[in-house]
Amino acid sequence: MTLLDRALVQMLPAVPRPVVQRLSSRYIAGPELDDAVRVVQELNARGRMATIDVLGEEVTTPEETLLLVDEYRRVFDAIRDVGLDSNVSVKPTGLGLSIDRDLARENIAEIVRCAAERSSFVRIDMEDATTTSDTLEVYRELRGEGLDRVGVVLQARLRRTLDDVDALADLRPNVRLCKGIYLEPADIAFEDFDEIRSSFVAVLRALLDAGCYVAVATHDDWLVDRALELLGERGLGPDEYEFQMLLGVREALGDALVADGHRLRIYVPYGRRWYEYSMRRLQENPRIATYIALDTVNRLIPGKRSVPA
Ligand SMILES: Cc1cc2nc3c(=O)[nH]c(=O)nc-3n(C[C@H](O)[C@H](O)[C@H](O)COP(=O)(O)OP(=O)(O)OC[C@H]3O[C@@H](n4cnc5c(N)ncnc54)[C@H](O)[C@@H]3O)c2cc1C
Repeated sequence: MTLLDRALVQMLPAVPRPVVQRLSSRYIAGPELDDAVRVVQELNARGRMATIDVLGEEVTTPEETLLLVDEYRRVFDAIRDVGLDSNVSVKPTGLGLSIDRDLARENIAEIVRCAAERSSFVRIDMEDATTTSDTLEVYRELRGEGLDRVGVVLQARLRRTLDDVDALADLRPNVRLCKGIYLEPADIAFEDFDEIRSSFVAVLRALLDAGCYVAVATHDDWLVDRALELLGERGLGPDEYEFQMLLGVREALGDALVADGHRLRIYVPYGRRWYEYSMRRLQENPRIATYIALDTVNRLIPGKRSVPA
């Protein structure tokens, strides 16, 4: 990132919400389930699978968490009725983790039961490091209850992650591996770009050694190449792993993976609680300055082409 980009990232919290919403529209399907259905249909037609996420991490009351569970029931119905190639992703805090851990576990269990009835699958997203232990414990408890159609996320940024792989190995978890978006203190997280990459490769190797199904979630060409080497060395077939990318990010890299016969799943968020997700995406856009400049030009000169993908 350039100095200007970095400076703009610091200033993003001061940007008015309507501007954030416009800038981040490429990362979000829209406010309604119908928007997600339309986007997933388009992705499926282009050979991509999807995982639908209902935005809702700003939840503060138990009642709101139950509404989110209901919304996931609607998502599963839509997946079945429309015949979408998609599973779902859930955020533990949206389902009550910071209100009451047992409430979150029961809500996630209910969504996994719904998934199991429809031969679908639930990915439990990983949030900031204050939630890691609880999230992994909830996952272990669900598996202990015989709920298998569920997977977790591990973050290469965290120093604990190789130990987490060891601790989970007996479950042979289905894991999405990502760098980790939440900035954490140096005593618990790698901060250097190359250290995070090295950790990603080490964790991926450990997961494959443990016989786990891995979803490699990155837009980093270098990591995609390392992953392809590791998967190739083990002779894994295309249905024994998948790549994952976020909606609106590095589509050409996704095209190349799909053209080479790899499975690619796109993370498709929708909903009215778009602000926090949008801020995280904008903060990691390395061309945020260009992006804001083009958005400004577009507003000043109506009809001008929108910001680049
Ligand atoms: C499917 C999926 C699910 C995820 N789930 C989680 C999760 O549960 N918990 C969690 O902490 N993190 C999650 N992440 C986010 C992840 O941790 C990283 O923050 C994010 O993917 C960026 O890291 P990267 O590996 O792509 O590498 P980076 O080095 O950040 O990005 C590589 C390149 O991708 C492009 N790029 C990346 N982000 C953007 C963007 N927003 N806009 C435009 N270009 C961009 C840029 O060209 C950049 O140089 C997820 C990511 C994916 C793909």
